Amino acid sequence: MTLYRSTRATGNATTTFSEALFSGLAPDGGLYLPLEVPPLPAGWQDAETFPQLAREVLAGWLPDLESDLLEGLCGAAFDFPVPLLQLSGDRFVLELFHGPTLAFKDFGARFMARVMDELLSRSGQRLTVLVATSGDTGSAVADGFSGLDNLDVVLLYPYGRVSAVQEQQLILERPGVTALAVEGTFDDCQRLVKGALLDPELAAAGVNLTTANSINIARLLPQQLYYLWALKLLAQQTETDAAPLVSVPSGNLGNLTAGLLAAQSGARIGQFLAAHNENDYFPRFLAGEVAAFDFSATVPTLSNAMDVGAPSNFERLHALGVTGSTGSVPVSGIRVSDEATLARIARTWQEDSYLVCPHTAVALEAVSSWREQQHERSPALILATAHPAKFPDTIARALPGVTAHSEALAALVGQPVRMQRIGPHLTELRAVLQS
Ligand SMILES: *Cc1c(COP(=O)(O)O)cnc(C)c1O
Repeated sequence: MTLYRSTRATGNATTTFSEALFSGLAPDGGLYLPLEVPPLPAGWQDAETFPQLAREVLAGWLPDLESDLLEGLCGAAFDFPVPLLQLSGDRFVLELFHGPTLAFKDFGARFMARVMDELLSRSGQRLTVLVATSGDTGSAVADGFSGLDNLDVVLLYPYGRVSAVQEQQLILERPGVTALAVEGTFDDCQRLVKGALLDPELAAAGVNLTTANSINIARLLPQQLYYLWALKLLAQQTETDAAPLVSVPSGNLGNLTAGLLAAQSGARIGQFLAAHNENDYFPRFLAGEVAAFDFSATVPTLSNAMDVGAPSNFERLHALGVTGSTGSVPVSGIRVSDEATLARIARTWQEDSYLVCPHTAVALEAVSSWREQQHERSPALILATAHPAKFPDTIARALPGVTAHSEALAALVGQPVRMQRIGPHLTELRAVLQS
């Protein structure tokens, strides 16, 4: 059994997976990390499908889930393709946006939901999952958690402050999901979620609440898998076995943390690039320009899912000893401006006839900057985190006249939607939760 510890634990206190899963945050305010990283199982590269790879690797992390059960969970959670595409210049793009909400957050949310549902069914409990969202996370959680037997979802988003496409995805009618449009900001939504989780009145009324935000360890475990899948496909598609440069579009740093866990378990990665937009605390930290935890305010950018001034997973990276070149795999940070992001979207279209979302463009641009600085040419693996069709305005700005198309998004238009508007007050949220 893999045990977990808090990033802030001083002694040798440990926690089980189930406790870490349902509590999210450790009681001391820290984040959970595995006490030891299980090594990759022999022959993992021979897995023929993503779910098969998932089952084999996750068995090392969750040995108390029976193998047929894990197989069922992985088959249901990862029921979409994860293709690797080659661009010019020895660059390979791993498309992580073929899940139901067209962004990589589907991996974490779909797996976490199914594991929670399974563990709840064993203990005969029912839970309501509260999520505050400013975009991709909410729809991934709503979709991933909908229709499960032992879970309901209440989603809070800031009314009028998410894009039209994002809102359409958030308020789509889904079994067991209530979408609340809060008249306020994202911070108001987060405050309401925290308030409800700690509310004695709701507890006394027997409303069982949890949250599914990005700091939950259960979201990181499945995110390691696609690094491995990419290495396997890369080895098949290229002649060399050079350890690649891996460029990760980063905001809250969960994706990068998962990559480091994969590297610690034995995945051969040469170098990580944390590709950030103007919210560049982490690159500045790695360059020695700011102290640990001396975060900045969030700045809005075109790659808005990465607009995080104070990345929560920095605490995990810090605990893992990532300070530039001392970790097991070197990590460097690069900052990319909105202007360079737009130029990279246009250039990728012109040179490779390939359309990328702004987050993926940040990662592609980071690879170019890195190669220029380092005169280095190992194959580059770029994680493509969202489908470009989710960002029509940015694509139109970068490439007037070009539109990104997605069948799945087009199919959303005209589907039944349901949402309820509330003021930014705990009394109003309480009323919804008790109804
Ligand atoms: C959440 C998100 C990111 C950033 O991932 P982190 O794990 O928060 O660093 C990048 N791109 C897209 C499209 C996202 O939704």
